[in-house]
Amino acid sequence: MTEPTEKSLKLIHNFVDKFCKRTGLQLHSDPDVSESVIMGLASHLEELKRPLCPCRFYPDKQQAVEERTWLCPCDPMKNCKYCHCMLFVTAEDTPVTEYLCQNHEGRIAYGWVEDPAPTVGRKGQHIPPGVSGKCC
Ligand code: SF4
Repeated sequence: MTEPTEKSLKLIHNFVDKFCKRTGLQLHSDPDVSESVIMGLASHLEELKRPLCPCRFYPDKQQAVEERTWLCPCDPMKNCKYCHCMLFVTAEDTPVTEYLCQNHEGRIAYGWVEDPAPTVGRKGQHIPPGVSGKCC
């Protein structure tokens, strides 16, 4: 893991603070969880110049950057407000799962977790869950 500079860490801290406000979610209350994800994002920002999600394995990180799916906020977060890293969560420290399809791993792991702020922070938030038939 590339050691992030203070500048990269500050950029990520600013981003996550603003993103919490934009989505109505909050950072995981356990700093062992939230700070390690923040550190991973800052490390990728340092190494790749992009905040690639640190909770996944990539055979080719540069290719993952070009594909953009896992740049934070990743597609599952933008579409379903689901953070599998557990960085952006509800007040109960669980990731939102209400927009996931029933057999999604997040739904199986955490059950149905309601979005505390359903009117903000989700692409297509005007579309009722399940109508598009698309899962995250
Ligand atoms: Fe960001 Fe998505 Fe990773 Fe959560 S799962 S830290 S939203 S990229």
